[in-house]
Amino acid sequence: MKKIQARYYHNGRVSPIKLIVMHSMEAPEKPTTAEAVANWFATSSPKTSAHVCVDSNSSVRCVDDNDTAWAAPNANASGLHIELTGYARQTRAQWLDAFSLATLKNAAKVAAAWVKKYDIPIRHLTPAQVRAGHKGFCAHVDVTRAYPGTGSHTDPGAVFPWDRFLAMVKAEVNGEPAKPVSWSRTLVYTKGKAMMKGADVEAWQAILNELGYDVDVDGLYGLGSTEATKKAQSKLKVLVTGTVDKTTWQAGQKAASK
Ligand SMILES: [Zn+2]
Repeated sequence: MKKIQARYYHNGRVSPIKLIVMHSMEAPEKPTTAEAVANWFATSSPKTSAHVCVDSNSSVRCVDDNDTAWAAPNANASGLHIELTGYARQTRAQWLDAFSLATLKNAAKVAAAWVKKYDIPIRHLTPAQVRAGHKGFCAHVDVTRAYPGTGSHTDPGAVFPWDRFLAMVKAEVNGEPAKPVSWSRTLVYTKGKAMMKGADVEAWQAILNELGYDVDVDGLYGLGSTEATKKAQSKLKVLVTGTVDKTTWQAGQKAASK
């Protein structure tokens, strides 16, 4: 991992490592943002830092694990802090778009190494658990809630996709791809009818994003998903219908896992 040492941090730690804390940088989704924010931590930022900054194509080390980053009051002593490119205001769909999926995957790699090294359980702690000193993952917003009146940060937002992120971390720890959702029904959009909805739709939309077809990962199979599916089908050399049958699903899943 490349390193750009942050300017503000404490040498060493006064507590053992217990928490992996997720943040959003509140900076635009660009493949150079991890470097840009790391440079900002190194030079002109106010008194703030994090251990690693992550964007869609890289992770940048800013503070060593054994040093204390200045990232979230009350969670600095025991925390390892990851800054994700993006905004706390992002919707779940925006956290699961192509850029963010790539960013989350990179962050999952960093977190997985910590999970193994520091024996951190792969679970999202409640603010009460954070306050009680449990080991696990949390968001900056959970730290803010755990210690009322000590901060106002709400990153990385109320709808951060913990389910997907922790599944990615698990997959990295186990050295295997995240357990794929399997095909269970044909996904089809019919104009004038209610859109099909569900976890399988969301999984297919994530596959489309991984294949480079930008689509909202909102779990609703509508016109946008249909059009993206058609493009993917053409590329995958399966029948171009805009509906997701078992053949299309499996071809997409196979291509996305490469
Ligand atoms: Zn934060």
